Amino acid sequence: MDTYWYYESDEPHFLDSCSLCRKTLSLNSDIYMYRGDMAFCSQECRQEQIDSDETKSKTWKKTSSSSRSSLRKSSDSKDSVSGKTVRTETLVVA
Ligand SMILES: [Zn+2]
Repeated sequence: MDTYWYYESDEPHFLDSCSLCRKTLSLNSDIYMYRGDMAFCSQECRQEQIDSDETKSKTWKKTSSSSRSSLRKSSDSKDSVSGKTVRTETLVVA
């Protein structure tokens, strides 16, 4: 497959590190894929991304998708699992 150079402009390390927490993914550890082009270190991280995407599809419709990558930085707090990801997104905007 020589198609993955294509991702470099968009998701440079999509298989090297978790798309959510940026933890390095090693070949011996489990990698959780989402949408075929995003990799996560755990189900929790992937679920958070899914939740975040669902939230975005509702609340971020008017906003450009160019703000996507900056959103993830604030998702470090693990306790956001129980709450809505809306909260973290609000933090970024503020
Ligand atoms: Zn992760």
